[in-house]
Amino acid sequence: MKEMICIMCPVGCHLEIDENKNVTGNRCPRGIAYAIKEVTNPTRVLTTTVRTTHERIPRISVKSAEPIPKELVFPAMKRISSLKIESTTHVGDVICKNILDSGIDLIATKDVVFEYNSSERK
Ligand code: SF4
Repeated sequence: MKEMICIMCPVGCHLEIDENKNVTGNRCPRGIAYAIKEVTNPTRVLTTTVRTTHERIPRISVKSAEPIPKELVFPAMKRISSLKIESTTHVGDVICKNILDSGIDLIATKDVVFEYNSSERK
């Protein structure tokens, strides 16, 4: 028996799943799918920020285009910490393609226009 809290909506049902994948505690079918996925192939959408070269916009928000395997979250964060964006970026632009050979891209979630004064350009 494994216990978990469903994160598919704000209700946060307390779920239990047994070795035969029988799920209890869910208020809707999404809880069943969530519990089974959590014990077979847990994934998470990775949301974070990436550094830029712009002094006034030091970081921009990004996310994985799809959920990535949960065990790749911390290695991906380490990889992301080494990235630096140097130019204007729009929502959906690929910031890092196929991160950690997961087949999933890291994409921008915000438009950022870099406007430099000549004294700011690095
Ligand atoms: S089981 Fe359904 S109602 Fe409960 S937290 Fe999950 S999605 Fe929400």
